[in-house]
Amino acid sequence: MLRDLHKEEQLCRQKVLVVGGVAGGASCAARARRLSEEAEIIVFDRGPHVSFANCGLPYYIGDVITKEQDLLIATPELFKNSFNIEVRVLSEVQAIDCTQSEIVVKNLKTGQVYREQYDSLVLATGSQPVRPQLPGVDLTGIFTLRTIPDSQLIKEWIAESRVKEAVVVGGGFIGLEMTENLTRRGVSVTIVEMLPHVIPTFDPEMAVQIHDKLLANGVNLCLGAPVIAFSHSSDNTKIEVMTESGKQLTCDMVILTMGVRSEATLAREAGLEIGELGGIRVNDQMQTSNERIWAVGDVIEVRDFVTGEWTLAPLAGPANRQGRIAADAIFGRSRRFRGVQTTAVCQIFDMTVASTGISEGTLKRCAERGNRIPYEKVYLYPQNHADYYPQATTIAIKLIFSTEDGRILGAQAIGGEGVEKRIDVIAMAIQMGASVYDLEEAELCYAPQVGSAKDAVNLAGMVAANILQEDAPTVHWDNISQTESIILDVRQPEEFATGHAERAINIPLDSLRQSIEDLDREREISVCCEQGKWSYYACRVLRLNGFNCHNISGGFKNYRALKQLEQQ
Ligand code: FAD
Repeated sequence: MLRDLHKEEQLCRQKVLVVGGVAGGASCAARARRLSEEAEIIVFDRGPHVSFANCGLPYYIGDVITKEQDLLIATPELFKNSFNIEVRVLSEVQAIDCTQSEIVVKNLKTGQVYREQYDSLVLATGSQPVRPQLPGVDLTGIFTLRTIPDSQLIKEWIAESRVKEAVVVGGGFIGLEMTENLTRRGVSVTIVEMLPHVIPTFDPEMAVQIHDKLLANGVNLCLGAPVIAFSHSSDNTKIEVMTESGKQLTCDMVILTMGVRSEATLAREAGLEIGELGGIRVNDQMQTSNERIWAVGDVIEVRDFVTGEWTLAPLAGPANRQGRIAADAIFGRSRRFRGVQTTAVCQIFDMTVASTGISEGTLKRCAERGNRIPYEKVYLYPQNHADYYPQATTIAIKLIFSTEDGRILGAQAIGGEGVEKRIDVIAMAIQMGASVYDLEEAELCYAPQVGSAKDAVNLAGMVAANILQEDAPTVHWDNISQTESIILDVRQPEEFATGHAERAINIPLDSLRQSIEDLDREREISVCCEQGKWSYYACRVLRLNGFNCHNISGGFKNYRALKQLEQQ
């Protein structure tokens, strides 16, 4: 292939301006320098810092990270000295003049407004925390968290007002991280969440385990409760939080963690294409509707890798990768962004919660929009490492997969050690378009203290493959109640006595073969145990003896979770 050396030279000498100098912007600028020594690269940020660790802020508030300095991943000096990149902090970009290829910048220290010309412009302006227009939302003592100065304000308020009780509005990942860190500081926290469960990317029956962990650590939950107003108490010393159902919570501080909104004002005013979700529309090289302008990070809309739909994925990993791809595109390389899977992890007390791909809830919403992906799900509860090695802990896994070809669509996992490792493996499998049969065959690390010869990931694939191959067809509690099947519980009588499903009969697996002729061959049998493993064995016995039976996925554990949700 003939190379156009003149064009390459021109590309190398570009003037590249980057607006926003944190995850997406900083990676874009640094990558750009590695692709061209001649380019002039300037990064603008309206804040006082560049490249700081916003993901570390909850832990700075919780005094786990004690020095503000540790949150600064890079400084303007480091950018200058190591990468020859100029960083202008306290510099707000106020407008883009696309016809002149210039931006308008205000120096927030001096008030000076000036113009800067570009050959390529990258918008990495991130997002803003949602602060809904509710009565009283701007009262003192109500905070959002995005920047180091935000976290300083929260720390000061905790100390000066001797905060004892806080309300965290929004039970997503940042809300839970704030909850944990406030609890660590001795503050009693109530989470107020509009949905009936925390972590919207999780399905409700999985989230129940997170509720249990929060309650066990003294956190109060107020679920299915949209907030409608805030006010001061009559003596002005407290904040009152009102919910739609009429509940009133009194506290010393409120943290709003109700999600984020793309910071797309600059792009909108410059006439760039904005999507329905409010983010900048880009192609798979992060190029906006203007060929000289790129955009990365929280400010853009991206394609969901699984559903193909536009989505917002405000996460540091995608922002960093997009920054690199934009730099590559600016300097003529052809790498493309594959889409997002929203792989995320959160630590709540000693529990790790992680997910990748889409949830069942998202699949249902997609189907309502006409994007129907036929799916099945399995629940399993393997150990994080060999049972016989001390301190093995259970990982609860929900795997969602296509019934057409076994392609993996999503996974959620909750437990202690090793949760994120399993989700990371499944995340990569999703990105490679792998199926549950590939998970069965995955060759993973094993030594007794770190895994099992049949790893949790292999097991998830095996359980799913059993369903697709009809070795053990599955049924879920919400379908059973509508059928006339026999519910056969194969746990030991003592376990059965501690609680069981309505209509269930008990024949322990150990005596199933002897009692098999007592079962009605004309009726369908739904088999249950504690977690779905022993019932699978029972299903095989029954199927090989000519019975029509289904394994109840997730067993009695799931039954309890569903009942708990009903009672909430
Ligand atoms: P940002 O990092 O938000 O940077 C945007 C920058 O642009 C800001 O510094 C802003 O000042 C600047 N800017 C905006 N407009 C202008 C303008 N007009 N002129 C000049 N500058 C401008 N993600 C994870 O994956 N894992 C986590 O554990 C995690 N934890 C988080 C915890 C907290 C408390 C927060 C707030 C976020 C967390 N995130 C986490 C999300 C992650 O930090 C973001 O997805 C990521 O930082 C987005 O990068 P970005 O470059 O798009 O935007």
